[in-house]
Amino acid sequence: MSVTLPEHFEDFAEARREGFLKVKELKDSGKNVCGCFCQYTPAEIIRAAGLYQVGLCGKSAAPIKTAETRLPANLCPLIKSSYGHALEQSCPYAYFSDVVVGETTCDGKKKMYELLGELKPMQVIHLPNIPDHERSLQMWVSELRIFAKGLEDKFQTTITEDGLNESIEWCNKERIQAARIYELGRYEPPAITGVRMHDIMEGEQYMFDPQEKYDKINAILDQCEKNWHNGEAPFAPDPKRPRIIVSGTGLGGTAEKTIHVIEELGGAVVCYEGCSGISSRRRLIDEDRSRDPYLRIAEKYIEVPCAVVSPNTRRLEQVAETVREWNADGIVSITLHSCNPFAIETENIRRVCNQMGIPLLHIETDFTPGDEAQIRTRLGAFLEMIRAEKEAAHE
Ligand code: SF4
Ligand code: SF4
Repeated sequence: MSVTLPEHFEDFAEARREGFLKVKELKDSGKNVCGCFCQYTPAEIIRAAGLYQVGLCGKSAAPIKTAETRLPANLCPLIKSSYGHALEQSCPYAYFSDVVVGETTCDGKKKMYELLGELKPMQVIHLPNIPDHERSLQMWVSELRIFAKGLEDKFQTTITEDGLNESIEWCNKERIQAARIYELGRYEPPAITGVRMHDIMEGEQYMFDPQEKYDKINAILDQCEKNWHNGEAPFAPDPKRPRIIVSGTGLGGTAEKTIHVIEELGGAVVCYEGCSGISSRRRLIDEDRSRDPYLRIAEKYIEVPCAVVSPNTRRLEQVAETVREWNADGIVSITLHSCNPFAIETENIRRVCNQMGIPLLHIETDFTPGDEAQIRTRLGAFLEMIRAEKEAAHE
Protein backbone atom coordinates (compact mmCIF):
# COMPACT_ATOMS: atom_id res chain seq x y z
CA MET A 1 0.00 0.00 0.00
CA SER A 2 1.40 3.39 -0.94
CA VAL A 3 1.01 5.88 1.91
CA THR A 4 0.89 9.64 1.48
CA LEU A 5 3.69 10.93 3.70
CA PRO A 6 3.07 14.31 5.29
CA GLU A 7 5.08 16.73 3.18
CA HIS A 8 6.95 18.31 6.09
CA PHE A 9 8.31 15.08 7.61
CA GLU A 10 11.65 15.42 5.87
CA ASP A 11 11.97 19.06 7.00
CA PHE A 12 12.18 17.83 10.58
CA ALA A 13 14.50 14.90 9.83
CA GLU A 14 16.88 17.33 8.15
CA ALA A 15 16.36 20.25 10.53
CA ARG A 16 19.64 19.94 12.42
CA ARG A 17 21.71 20.08 9.24
CA GLU A 18 19.60 22.82 7.63
CA GLY A 19 19.56 24.81 10.86
CA PHE A 20 23.31 25.51 10.58
CA LEU A 21 22.61 28.09 7.89
CA LYS A 22 19.57 29.45 9.69
CA VAL A 23 21.48 30.10 12.90
CA LYS A 24 24.14 31.93 10.93
CA GLU A 25 21.45 34.04 9.26
CA LEU A 26 20.05 34.85 12.71
CA LYS A 27 23.46 36.01 13.86
CA ASP A 28 24.04 37.99 10.66
CA SER A 29 20.75 39.82 11.27
CA GLY A 30 21.87 40.83 14.76
CA LYS A 31 19.80 38.34 16.77
CA ASN A 32 21.10 36.67 19.94
CA VAL A 33 21.18 32.93 20.51
CA CYS A 34 20.94 31.04 23.79
CA GLY A 35 22.32 27.49 23.82
CA CYS A 36 20.81 25.02 26.26
CA PHE A 37 21.12 21.41 27.33
CA CYS A 38 18.16 20.45 29.36
CA GLN A 39 14.39 20.23 29.76
CA TYR A 40 14.70 22.34 32.89
CA THR A 41 15.65 25.33 30.71
CA PRO A 42 12.92 27.96 31.21
CA ALA A 43 12.13 28.64 27.57
CA GLU A 44 9.59 31.31 28.53
CA ILE A 45 12.26 33.56 30.07
CA ILE A 46 14.63 33.12 27.12
CA ARG A 47 11.86 33.96 24.70
CA ALA A 48 10.72 36.97 26.73
CA ALA A 49 14.32 38.25 26.61
CA GLY A 50 14.12 38.19 22.79
CA LEU A 51 16.65 35.36 22.44
CA TYR A 52 16.52 32.35 20.14
CA GLN A 53 16.96 29.05 21.93
CA VAL A 54 18.88 26.10 20.49
CA GLY A 55 19.75 22.66 21.90
CA LEU A 56 23.46 21.91 22.37
CA CYS A 57 23.34 18.31 23.62
CA GLY A 58 26.08 16.31 21.90
CA LYS A 59 24.79 13.39 19.87
CA SER A 60 27.96 12.23 18.17
CA ALA A 61 31.02 10.25 19.23
CA ALA A 62 33.29 12.37 17.00
CA PRO A 63 34.29 15.07 19.54
CA ILE A 64 34.67 12.67 22.48
CA LYS A 65 38.41 12.10 22.00
CA THR A 66 38.95 15.86 22.18
CA ALA A 67 36.79 16.08 25.31
CA GLU A 68 38.79 13.31 26.97
CA THR A 69 41.90 15.50 26.90
CA ARG A 70 40.22 17.33 29.80
CA LEU A 71 37.37 15.14 31.05
CA PRO A 72 37.54 11.62 32.49
CA ALA A 73 36.93 8.81 30.01
CA ASN A 74 34.30 7.13 32.21
CA LEU A 75 31.86 10.01 31.95
CA CYS A 76 28.51 9.96 30.17
CA PRO A 77 28.99 10.36 26.37
CA LEU A 78 26.42 13.16 26.19
CA ILE A 79 28.49 15.31 28.53
CA LYS A 80 31.76 14.53 26.75
CA SER A 81 30.28 15.04 23.29
CA SER A 82 28.69 18.38 24.26
CA TYR A 83 31.91 19.67 25.80
CA GLY A 84 34.08 18.28 22.99
CA HIS A 85 32.04 20.16 20.38
CA ALA A 86 32.55 23.44 22.23
CA LEU A 87 36.25 22.75 22.76
CA GLU A 88 37.04 21.95 19.14
CA GLN A 89 34.44 24.44 17.82
CA SER A 90 32.81 21.74 15.70
CA CYS A 91 29.18 22.56 16.49
CA PRO A 92 27.90 25.75 14.85
CA TYR A 93 25.10 26.01 17.41
CA ALA A 94 27.57 26.12 20.29
CA TYR A 95 29.84 28.38 18.27
CA PHE A 96 27.07 30.92 17.59
CA SER A 97 25.57 30.83 21.08
CA ASP A 98 25.92 34.23 22.75
CA VAL A 99 25.15 32.66 26.10
CA VAL A 100 24.84 29.07 27.27
CA VAL A 101 22.47 28.10 30.04
CA GLY A 102 23.17 25.05 32.17
CA GLU A 103 21.25 23.55 35.06
CA THR A 104 22.86 21.73 37.97
CA THR A 105 21.28 18.37 37.20
CA CYS A 106 23.71 15.44 37.44
CA ASP A 107 27.20 15.80 38.92
CA GLY A 108 28.97 15.25 35.59
CA LYS A 109 27.04 18.00 33.86
CA LYS A 110 27.42 20.58 36.56
CA LYS A 111 31.18 20.03 36.85
CA MET A 112 31.52 20.10 33.07
CA TYR A 113 29.79 23.51 33.07
CA GLU A 114 32.66 24.90 35.14
CA LEU A 115 35.03 24.04 32.28
CA LEU A 116 32.58 25.09 29.60
CA GLY A 117 32.40 28.48 31.27
CA GLU A 118 36.03 29.01 30.20
CA LEU A 119 34.95 28.64 26.57
CA LYS A 120 31.52 30.29 26.45
CA PRO A 121 29.63 32.88 28.52
CA MET A 122 27.52 30.74 30.84
CA GLN A 123 24.59 31.15 33.16
CA VAL A 124 24.05 28.27 35.53
CA ILE A 125 20.68 27.77 37.18
CA HIS A 126 20.87 25.86 40.44
CA LEU A 127 18.16 23.26 40.83
CA PRO A 128 16.59 22.13 44.04
CA ASN A 129 17.12 18.42 44.37
CA ILE A 130 13.83 17.60 46.06
CA PRO A 131 10.82 17.69 43.74
CA ASP A 132 8.64 18.95 46.52
CA HIS A 133 6.82 22.24 46.22
CA GLU A 134 6.96 23.38 49.81
CA ARG A 135 10.71 23.04 50.29
CA SER A 136 11.99 23.78 46.82
CA LEU A 137 9.69 26.19 45.09
CA GLN A 138 10.97 29.31 46.77
CA MET A 139 14.55 28.54 45.81
CA TRP A 140 13.50 27.76 42.23
CA VAL A 141 11.69 31.08 41.89
CA SER A 142 14.70 33.00 43.10
CA GLU A 143 17.00 31.07 40.72
CA LEU A 144 14.71 31.94 37.82
CA ARG A 145 14.75 35.61 38.78
CA ILE A 146 18.56 35.58 38.96
CA PHE A 147 18.68 33.94 35.54
CA ALA A 148 16.31 36.56 34.07
CA LYS A 149 18.33 39.39 35.59
CA GLY A 150 21.52 37.90 34.14
CA LEU A 151 19.98 37.90 30.65
CA GLU A 152 18.72 41.46 31.09
CA ASP A 153 22.18 42.65 32.10
CA LYS A 154 24.03 40.77 29.41
CA PHE A 155 21.74 41.76 26.55
CA GLN A 156 20.73 45.20 27.82
CA THR A 157 17.07 44.31 27.64
CA THR A 158 14.05 44.27 29.95
CA ILE A 159 12.00 41.16 30.53
CA THR A 160 8.50 42.48 31.12
CA GLU A 161 5.59 40.77 32.79
CA ASP A 162 3.64 41.08 29.55
CA GLY A 163 6.52 39.46 27.69
CA LEU A 164 6.58 36.56 30.16
CA ASN A 165 2.81 36.13 29.96
CA GLU A 166 2.87 36.10 26.17
CA SER A 167 5.72 33.55 26.24
CA ILE A 168 3.93 31.35 28.76
CA GLU A 169 0.86 31.26 26.55
CA TRP A 170 2.86 30.56 23.38
CA CYS A 171 4.95 27.79 24.98
CA ASN A 172 1.78 26.18 26.35
CA LYS A 173 0.37 26.18 22.84
CA GLU A 174 3.52 24.39 21.64
CA ARG A 175 3.23 21.85 24.47
CA ILE A 176 -0.36 21.03 23.59
CA GLN A 177 0.78 20.48 20.03
CA ALA A 178 3.71 18.30 21.12
CA ALA A 179 1.37 16.16 23.23
CA ARG A 180 -0.77 15.66 20.13
CA ILE A 181 2.26 14.12 18.36
CA TYR A 182 2.57 11.48 21.07
CA GLU A 183 -1.19 10.99 21.18
CA LEU A 184 -1.11 9.76 17.57
CA GLY A 185 0.61 6.70 19.03
CA ARG A 186 -2.53 5.76 20.98
CA TYR A 187 -4.27 4.68 17.80
CA GLU A 188 -4.32 1.00 16.84
CA PRO A 189 -2.41 0.72 14.60
CA PRO A 190 -0.51 3.87 15.55
CA ALA A 191 -1.08 6.85 13.26
CA ILE A 192 2.62 7.77 13.28
CA THR A 193 5.83 5.79 13.71
CA GLY A 194 8.02 6.29 16.76
CA VAL A 195 10.88 7.20 14.41
CA ARG A 196 8.85 10.06 12.95
CA MET A 197 7.76 11.23 16.41
CA HIS A 198 11.40 11.34 17.41
CA ASP A 199 12.42 13.16 14.21
CA ILE A 200 9.88 15.89 14.92
CA MET A 201 10.83 16.31 18.58
CA GLU A 202 14.54 16.40 17.74
CA GLY A 203 14.22 18.54 14.63
CA GLU A 204 11.99 21.19 16.12
CA GLN A 205 14.90 22.37 18.32
CA TYR A 206 16.68 23.62 15.20
CA MET A 207 13.82 25.54 13.60
CA PHE A 208 13.86 29.16 14.58
CA ASP A 209 10.66 30.64 13.18
CA PRO A 210 8.07 29.66 15.82
CA GLN A 211 4.97 30.23 13.70
CA GLU A 212 6.39 28.41 10.69
CA LYS A 213 7.40 25.48 12.89
CA TYR A 214 3.98 25.40 14.53
CA ASP A 215 2.19 25.40 11.19
CA LYS A 216 4.41 22.65 9.78
CA ILE A 217 3.81 20.40 12.77
CA ASN A 218 0.07 21.02 12.56
CA ALA A 219 0.09 20.06 8.89
CA ILE A 220 1.88 16.80 9.76
CA LEU A 221 -0.55 15.98 12.55
CA ASP A 222 -3.59 16.66 10.40
CA GLN A 223 -2.20 14.57 7.56
CA CYS A 224 -1.38 11.65 9.90
CA GLU A 225 -4.93 11.65 11.26
CA LYS A 226 -6.40 11.90 7.80
CA ASN A 227 -4.20 9.03 6.57
CA TRP A 228 -5.25 6.87 9.49
CA HIS A 229 -8.94 7.47 8.87
CA ASN A 230 -8.39 6.63 5.18
CA GLY A 231 -6.79 3.31 6.15
CA GLU A 232 -3.28 4.58 5.30
CA ALA A 233 -1.62 4.30 8.70
CA PRO A 234 2.17 3.77 8.56
CA PHE A 235 1.68 0.33 10.18
CA ALA A 236 -0.50 -2.40 8.68
CA PRO A 237 -3.20 -3.68 11.07
CA ASP A 238 -1.62 -6.33 13.34
CA PRO A 239 -3.14 -6.83 16.80
CA LYS A 240 -0.06 -8.80 17.88
CA ARG A 241 2.44 -6.05 17.09
CA PRO A 242 4.35 -5.15 20.29
CA ARG A 243 3.43 -1.62 21.42
CA ILE A 244 6.52 -0.19 23.09
CA ILE A 245 7.14 2.85 25.26
CA VAL A 246 10.71 4.15 25.08
CA SER A 247 12.00 5.53 28.33
CA GLY A 248 15.28 7.17 29.30
CA THR A 249 17.50 9.90 28.01
CA GLY A 250 20.19 10.68 25.45
CA LEU A 251 18.09 9.28 22.61
CA GLY A 252 19.44 11.82 20.11
CA GLY A 253 22.74 9.96 19.72
CA THR A 254 21.36 6.43 19.96
CA ALA A 255 18.11 6.47 17.96
CA GLU A 256 19.47 4.63 14.91
CA LYS A 257 20.44 1.53 16.85
CA THR A 258 17.43 1.52 19.19
CA ILE A 259 14.21 3.20 18.08
CA HIS A 260 14.79 2.50 14.39
CA VAL A 261 15.59 -1.14 15.12
CA ILE A 262 12.48 -1.65 17.29
CA GLU A 263 10.36 -0.62 14.34
CA GLU A 264 12.44 -2.50 11.75
CA LEU A 265 11.90 -5.66 13.79
CA GLY A 266 8.13 -5.31 13.83
CA GLY A 267 7.46 -3.31 17.00
CA ALA A 268 5.84 0.12 17.23
CA VAL A 269 7.21 2.83 19.49
CA VAL A 270 3.89 4.32 20.60
CA CYS A 271 5.12 6.93 23.09
CA TYR A 272 8.15 8.35 24.89
CA GLU A 273 8.56 8.70 28.62
CA GLY A 274 11.09 10.93 30.34
CA CYS A 275 11.91 14.60 30.47
CA SER A 276 10.89 15.22 26.86
CA GLY A 277 8.13 12.62 26.90
CA ILE A 278 4.41 12.94 27.17
CA SER A 279 4.10 13.98 30.83
CA SER A 280 6.20 17.11 30.39
CA ARG A 281 4.08 18.12 27.40
CA ARG A 282 0.84 17.72 29.23
CA ARG A 283 1.93 19.75 32.23
CA LEU A 284 1.08 23.33 31.23
CA ILE A 285 1.97 26.58 32.98
CA ASP A 286 -0.87 28.30 34.78
CA GLU A 287 -2.02 31.20 32.56
CA ASP A 288 -3.61 33.23 35.36
CA ARG A 289 -2.02 36.63 34.69
CA SER A 290 -2.90 37.86 38.19
CA ARG A 291 -0.25 35.50 39.65
CA ASP A 292 3.54 36.00 39.62
CA PRO A 293 4.79 34.63 36.27
CA TYR A 294 8.09 33.45 37.79
CA LEU A 295 6.19 31.40 40.35
CA ARG A 296 3.99 29.90 37.67
CA ILE A 297 7.02 29.02 35.52
CA ALA A 298 8.76 27.48 38.53
CA GLU A 299 5.69 25.38 39.35
CA LYS A 300 5.87 23.74 35.95
CA TYR A 301 9.60 23.08 35.74
CA ILE A 302 9.84 21.69 39.24
CA GLU A 303 7.79 18.79 37.93
CA VAL A 304 10.21 17.75 35.15
CA PRO A 305 10.38 13.98 35.74
CA CYS A 306 14.19 13.74 35.61
CA ALA A 307 16.06 10.96 37.40
CA VAL A 308 18.39 13.51 39.01
CA VAL A 309 15.76 14.38 41.63
CA SER A 310 15.04 12.17 44.57
CA PRO A 311 12.65 10.63 45.30
CA ASN A 312 11.21 10.73 41.82
CA THR A 313 7.83 9.20 42.65
CA ARG A 314 5.96 11.47 40.26
CA ARG A 315 7.80 9.91 37.32
CA LEU A 316 6.84 6.41 38.42
CA GLU A 317 3.16 7.37 38.62
CA GLN A 318 3.42 8.91 35.16
CA VAL A 319 5.01 5.76 33.74
CA ALA A 320 2.09 3.68 35.02
CA GLU A 321 -0.46 6.12 33.59
CA THR A 322 1.31 6.19 30.22
CA VAL A 323 1.44 2.39 30.01
CA ARG A 324 -2.30 2.25 30.66
CA GLU A 325 -3.31 5.05 28.33
CA TRP A 326 -1.09 3.93 25.41
CA ASN A 327 -1.99 0.29 25.99
CA ALA A 328 1.71 -0.57 25.96
CA ASP A 329 3.04 -4.12 25.97
CA GLY A 330 6.56 -3.31 27.16
CA ILE A 331 9.09 -0.61 28.00
CA VAL A 332 12.56 -0.24 26.56
CA SER A 333 14.68 1.86 28.90
CA ILE A 334 17.64 3.41 27.09
CA THR A 335 20.36 4.89 29.25
CA LEU A 336 23.86 6.10 28.50
CA HIS A 337 27.04 4.53 29.89
CA SER A 338 28.06 6.12 33.20
CA CYS A 339 24.65 7.71 33.71
CA ASN A 340 23.97 6.61 37.25
CA PRO A 341 20.69 8.49 37.86
CA PHE A 342 18.85 6.94 34.93
CA ALA A 343 20.47 3.52 35.22
CA ILE A 344 19.51 3.22 38.89
CA GLU A 345 16.05 4.60 38.33
CA THR A 346 15.46 1.95 35.67
CA GLU A 347 15.12 -0.51 38.56
CA ASN A 348 12.21 1.56 39.92
CA ILE A 349 10.60 1.58 36.49
CA ARG A 350 11.09 -2.17 36.25
CA ARG A 351 9.10 -2.52 39.48
CA VAL A 352 6.26 -0.46 37.99
CA CYS A 353 6.34 -2.75 34.94
CA ASN A 354 6.25 -5.83 37.18
CA GLN A 355 3.17 -4.48 38.95
CA MET A 356 1.52 -3.84 35.62
CA GLY A 357 2.48 -7.25 34.22
CA ILE A 358 4.60 -6.01 31.33
CA PRO A 359 8.31 -6.58 30.64
CA LEU A 360 11.13 -4.02 30.59
CA LEU A 361 14.36 -4.21 28.61
CA HIS A 362 17.24 -2.04 29.78
CA ILE A 363 19.79 -1.01 27.15
CA GLU A 364 22.91 0.82 28.28
CA THR A 365 24.77 2.27 25.37
CA ASP A 366 26.77 5.16 23.95
CA PHE A 367 27.16 6.96 20.63
CA THR A 368 29.51 4.43 18.99
CA PRO A 369 28.36 1.62 16.66
CA GLY A 370 30.24 -1.19 18.50
CA ASP A 371 27.16 -2.64 20.24
CA GLU A 372 24.67 -2.35 17.38
CA ALA A 373 24.51 -6.08 16.67
CA GLN A 374 24.15 -6.98 20.34
CA ILE A 375 21.34 -4.42 20.82
CA ARG A 376 19.56 -5.69 17.73
CA THR A 377 19.68 -9.26 19.07
CA ARG A 378 18.34 -8.23 22.47
CA LEU A 379 15.57 -6.10 20.97
CA GLY A 380 14.64 -8.94 18.62
CA ALA A 381 14.32 -11.41 21.50
CA PHE A 382 12.32 -8.91 23.58
CA LEU A 383 9.86 -8.19 20.77
CA GLU A 384 9.50 -11.88 19.94
CA MET A 385 8.69 -12.67 23.56
CA ILE A 386 5.97 -10.00 23.62
CA ARG A 387 4.55 -11.12 20.31
CA ALA A 388 4.42 -14.74 21.50
CA GLU A 389 2.57 -13.65 24.65
CA LYS A 390 0.07 -11.65 22.63
CA GLU A 391 -0.47 -14.57 20.27
CA ALA A 392 -1.06 -16.91 23.22
CA ALA A 393 -3.53 -14.43 24.72
CA HIS A 394 -5.45 -14.27 21.41
CA GLU A 395 -5.80 -18.05 21.09
S1 SF4 B 1 17.19 13.89 31.49
FE1 SF4 B 1 17.25 15.42 33.14
S2 SF4 B 1 19.25 16.35 32.92
FE2 SF4 B 1 18.83 15.31 30.99
S3 SF4 B 1 17.83 16.85 29.67
FE3 SF4 B 1 16.23 15.76 30.73
S4 SF4 B 1 15.77 16.99 32.51
FE4 SF4 B 1 17.79 17.62 31.77
S1 SF4 C 1 22.51 11.14 30.46
FE1 SF4 C 1 22.71 10.97 32.68
S2 SF4 C 1 24.87 11.40 33.14
FE2 SF4 C 1 24.44 12.11 31.04
S3 SF4 C 1 23.91 14.26 31.25
FE3 SF4 C 1 21.99 13.12 31.34
S4 SF4 C 1 21.60 12.73 33.51
FE4 SF4 C 1 23.76 13.35 33.29
